[in-house]
Amino acid sequence: MAEFTMELNDEQKEVRDWLHGFAADVIRPAAAEWDEREETPWPVIQEAAKVGIYSLDFYAQQYFDPTGLGIPMAMEELFWGDAGIALSIVGTGLAAVGVLANGTEEQIGTWIPQMYGDTNDVKVAAFCSSEPDAGSDVASMRTRAVYDEAKDEWVINGTKTWATNGGIANVHVVVAVVDQELGSKGHASFIIPPNTPGLSQGQKFKKHGIRASHTAEVVLENVRVPGSCLLGGKEKLDERLARARERAKAGGERVKNAAMATFEASRPAVGAMAVGTARAAYEVALEYAKTREQFGRPIIDNQGVAFQLADMRTSVDAARLLVWRASWMAVSGKPFTAAEGSMSKLFASETAKKVTAEAIQILGGNGYTREYPVERMHRDAAIYTIFEGTSEIQRLVIARTLSGMPIR
Ligand SMILES: Cc1cc2nc3c(=O)[nH]c(=O)nc-3n(C[C@H](O)[C@H](O)[C@H](O)COP(=O)(O)OP(=O)(O)OC[C@H]3O[C@@H](n4cnc5c(N)ncnc54)[C@H](O)[C@@H]3O)c2cc1C
Repeated sequence: MAEFTMELNDEQKEVRDWLHGFAADVIRPAAAEWDEREETPWPVIQEAAKVGIYSLDFYAQQYFDPTGLGIPMAMEELFWGDAGIALSIVGTGLAAVGVLANGTEEQIGTWIPQMYGDTNDVKVAAFCSSEPDAGSDVASMRTRAVYDEAKDEWVINGTKTWATNGGIANVHVVVAVVDQELGSKGHASFIIPPNTPGLSQGQKFKKHGIRASHTAEVVLENVRVPGSCLLGGKEKLDERLARARERAKAGGERVKNAAMATFEASRPAVGAMAVGTARAAYEVALEYAKTREQFGRPIIDNQGVAFQLADMRTSVDAARLLVWRASWMAVSGKPFTAAEGSMSKLFASETAKKVTAEAIQILGGNGYTREYPVERMHRDAAIYTIFEGTSEIQRLVIARTLSGMPIR
């Protein structure tokens, strides 16, 4: 088990400073432009690839950091730079983790390099689970994958929505129903290789925030993929489905717990993104409050403003501590008996929304304009309470875990 410490080790500090430098020198200066363009910032991704930030190696190194703090630290720094651009950089990693966690060695070796491309020709990947009628309610997913035994192919039909990098990805990872009876336990994930006929991009969404990140529908019409594209392989799927059927008969508790543990382990990463945005807005507000003068003195000279900044910083630090605790628990194999992963995501995402709104208030009229970054940060922050499970869903998970009751 990783020993818990509040202090990053020398290697982690070096990585953090390097990431911070990239966020400050490359990401932050490009943020306003790509937010206005509402396009994927390919040149910034390419720059990140050149220095080694946009790569599986980098992501895997942080993912397997024995203290558990590698991913939260990296997310916080990149999202401190800018949330939209950072999501464009880490979006591929989220799809790659799906393959790393569930794929065979051959699948990992074949598909992950194609998700990233190379430094001269960078590619992105997409993870497609949500559907128009299946957001929080994942079990109501309709996209179907049917096995064509004669050809050893899977035939996939359905419409995915809100997919980060959907339609522009080189490789899509698509979750589909293989056994309707089993609800979310009857789902499986498939690799859709580049240029597969039948996969197309539906509408690209115009969004409130994180506008440098591409979000779109993905339409799958009689998409045929080889049997080898089923993540984990057919044998493993058949075993898993058989186990799920047995457990469903016996009440389903253990399956539910296993699935929940996975979410608990991945949610702190989103919490860390929110910490990055919140910290960025707090820093801008602090600097502004020290330099903006009204009534002949800096506005921070008023307790009303100074106390607000004190509360903002306290919330940001509290959010980071919850994120670090849950990340450490995940890597140490500690049971999430109070849904600590969901707690960290809930608190950090609500903090980001609150702190960015307060930053606008401290900047007054300037805060409300696009001349200053807090307006963008506030729009960006709204995503954290929505994706990877809304705040209400986090509260539901926490309340159910604490009470053991089937709260609705
Ligand atoms: C920018 C962006 C990027 C995204 N990227 C991806 C991606 O890459 N891949 C992917 O698969 N998905 C992605 N998503 C989808 C995201 O995960 C969903 O939007 C999210 O899960 C919420 O689902 P929904 O939008 O259908 O909301 P709904 O589930 O319809 O919820 C609407 C409201 O009702 C509340 N609600 C619902 N059920 C309950 C309940 N039981 N109790 C209390 N309140 C409830 C919710 O909290 C929410 O406030 C993305 C979304 C966005 C906006």
